[in-house]
Amino acid sequence: APALQTYDATGATPVMAQFFEMKARQPDALIFFRMGDFYELFFDDAIAAAAALGISQTFRGTHNGEPIPMAGVPQHAAEAYLSKLIRQGFKVAVCEQMEDPAEARKRGSKSIVRRDIVRVVTPGTLTEEGLLDARGANRLAAVAVRAGQAAVASVELSTGEVEVFSVSKDGVAAILAALAPSETLVADRLLSDETLSQTLKICGGLIQPMPSALSEPQASEARVKRLYGVETLDGFGGLSPAEIGALGLIAAHLDMTQAGRLPALRAPRRAADADVMAIDPATRGSLEIDRTQAGDRNGSLLAVIDRTVSAGGARLLASRLARPLLDVAAIDQRLDAIQWFVEHRSLRQTLRETLKGSGDMARALSRLALGRGGPRDLGCLRDTLKTGQALAALVAGSGNALTSPPFELEHAFRALTPDLHEGLAGFLAALEAGLGPDLPALARDGGFVAAGVREELDEARALRDNSRKVIIALEAQLAAESGVPLKIRHNGVLGYFVEATAGKADPLFQPPLNATFIHRQTLANQVRFTTVELADLDARIAQAAERVLAMEVAAFETWREVARLLADAIQIAAEALARLDVAAALAEWAQDSGATRPVVDRSLAFDAQAARHPVVEAAVKRAGDPYTPNTCTLDASGETAARLSIVTGPNMAGKSTFLRQNALLAILAQSGCYVPAVHFRLGVVDRLFSRVGAGDDLARGRSTFMMEMVETAAILTQATPRSLVILDEIGRGTATYDGLAIAWACAEALHDTNRCRALFATHYHELATLEERLDHVSNLSLRAKEWNGDLVFLHEAAPGPADRSYGVQVAKLAGVPAPVVARAREVLDRLESKAESPARLDDLPLFAMSQALSAPVQAAPSVVDTALKDLDIDGMSPREALEALYRLKGLL
Ligand code: ADP
Repeated sequence: APALQTYDATGATPVMAQFFEMKARQPDALIFFRMGDFYELFFDDAIAAAAALGISQTFRGTHNGEPIPMAGVPQHAAEAYLSKLIRQGFKVAVCEQMEDPAEARKRGSKSIVRRDIVRVVTPGTLTEEGLLDARGANRLAAVAVRAGQAAVASVELSTGEVEVFSVSKDGVAAILAALAPSETLVADRLLSDETLSQTLKICGGLIQPMPSALSEPQASEARVKRLYGVETLDGFGGLSPAEIGALGLIAAHLDMTQAGRLPALRAPRRAADADVMAIDPATRGSLEIDRTQAGDRNGSLLAVIDRTVSAGGARLLASRLARPLLDVAAIDQRLDAIQWFVEHRSLRQTLRETLKGSGDMARALSRLALGRGGPRDLGCLRDTLKTGQALAALVAGSGNALTSPPFELEHAFRALTPDLHEGLAGFLAALEAGLGPDLPALARDGGFVAAGVREELDEARALRDNSRKVIIALEAQLAAESGVPLKIRHNGVLGYFVEATAGKADPLFQPPLNATFIHRQTLANQVRFTTVELADLDARIAQAAERVLAMEVAAFETWREVARLLADAIQIAAEALARLDVAAALAEWAQDSGATRPVVDRSLAFDAQAARHPVVEAAVKRAGDPYTPNTCTLDASGETAARLSIVTGPNMAGKSTFLRQNALLAILAQSGCYVPAVHFRLGVVDRLFSRVGAGDDLARGRSTFMMEMVETAAILTQATPRSLVILDEIGRGTATYDGLAIAWACAEALHDTNRCRALFATHYHELATLEERLDHVSNLSLRAKEWNGDLVFLHEAAPGPADRSYGVQVAKLAGVPAPVVARAREVLDRLESKAESPARLDDLPLFAMSQALSAPVQAAPSVVDTALKDLDIDGMSPREALEALYRLKGLL
């Protein structure tokens, strides 16, 4: 967002003075200044918004002699404009009219309407349906550091979910990458930390610097208490100072942006760093877990496996996949739930059908709590709570036909039983009886309270509606009496009035009719009148309508308040629905795709039998080809398999797919999902690293060799024996020998020092010899074969290194002229026969060089050496020295 200039407010008109006051309160936000049916923007705001929205910018009046730039958006379309501005990184302060213009006029002719900022819209504080992706989370995060310990807090304002993470400063990146917040708050003091600010940039979203004072311990604690309305934070299980600091920033930001309204937040859930598999942002990106490298959801792992039918379920699945667990028991609980739904297929179908119609209860509740909700949101609570009730009955009613659900599901079904929480069943009953069938978005539009629940309301409505009937009768009567064709109409300014076309209205001005018809207004084609009777009716109708609306709004407010009080129970129900949806959806996917239950334990094994890459498989199948399942076994303990596999094979053989496939299996398994493999056993992975070669990323111009090395360095310093490392074509971004040397050294380091499970794809076939030199290395290659002079990729991973002649074969396929291909074969043969010799490794300059360094060469002295030695430089004149140089050169 651009920096906005400050203005000299002296000499401003009253309205402009009001604008300046708002601007001073929110200097870095665009002010949406409500004027009647428009939000107007002034000065630099107008210029910036006009450019960002592609709307026209004009001028309105002057300030100190200069015209005031102005742009405006109609109130009814404001949401679309808002979303456009937010996406472009602006903050918007919405400044509303706080009273009716009539009230202002009552105060005096010079009085202007009171206005106030009701909300500052930022990317992390959106709650409107139209501004949010229903299937994705929209998180507001904050980072704080205290005494060297860092904490990340995250709030999903639209659902009330709050999480805190205690991490080392280095761990901030992995957490932020997993959360993918759309806005991150950070004390401005911390932004001078180079690494941290770099991390923030990579993790995307708007970075919102906050005054450092706001994360100070005491101020933070007070704010967090106020946010939750609690006397002490002890109930949240001993939050650390850094965690309180991060929550404090969020509380301060919400204070500022929500204009005092408190969201219905859940107690912070503490997720220690140790609870989730660490996946750094580069790895996350390269594995395309929830979006492709190009940023699309389509083509990601998530998109392929997602069979959820509700928005809440979709969000829960996304967040599980973003944060695979480490706790074997917790993983098993999730897997048990899926297995149960695999086994109870028809129940699963019924459940999914029922869930399909359910609304986004978490978000509806949040809007209600923040004062942005309407009757439709209440309707969503009613319908969704009912759905939950039906689901709970499904299991309860099935008696012994079902084996009892596992813990995770039992828990969810129980949370949906409405009488579990006091008041919830009553609330649901009240909504069912009280809300009518047609629900407007806003309470002030009225008409949503059902008939027959409140006598008073029914009476007022009858009066209002009867009077309308009386008006219709009056219209007929007046027309008949006057003999003038006329209609009774209504508008906001005049209320009810009689209207006649200008050419025919004349008699109404004449006696005797002018005694009845009182002139109100003359337009080009119409003349408008009222009568005493009509004015009286108008007042009665208006009064009745007002009373109806007041009663409806009051009913809405009551329900809204009850919803707020029951927020916890409603959120628990919403989460239960999401859990059921996810478990059933994953079971559905497992059945569709032939995925099986993985075995996750505390071993260091990785044993994937006949596994598939779900995304590539889908793509390959769409093209009508079969996918070749592949097996991969690693064992960091070295007992059952090698821990490092060197993967070779020609281009396009399927190396990258094979590597990623195995990384995805680990993510799926630890997220508690079934996996696309015939059998998969995994010893829990603590950190997953995937470094994909420069070549694959070049299109984005991002991956320089330097970046590759930075990421490689991170792997070599952080991978533990529990980690899984995927290295693809490392060293490709530099000169051949450099690259080979680096790849070689990295493979050795992974094997000797990190001792982790690793797959190492390379086109340096020399690395295949590591199998003989190191204890825990195996060779794998993706097979291709020549068939009728063509190269056929089998995509089959088999033990042993690849035959290296495929490059020449590919050259031939690509249309390189036959003589060149023939010559290449010849050269290759010669190189390979040389490679057969025992001295093979020493032929490589790489090893020649290392030897040269360890043992300097002692060559026999040459003639030049001798001649140089014999020179008596101190006894030479400059001329003689020059002659000696010429002589020496002559000796070469
Ligand atoms: P490499 O990394 O060896 O160049 P890729 O992994 O990019 O090769 O695979 C190239 C293409 O081969 C993929 O886009 C996919 O279409 C196909 N492919 C890869 N693995 C398989 C497999 N196991 N079964 C079928 N097709 C595959």
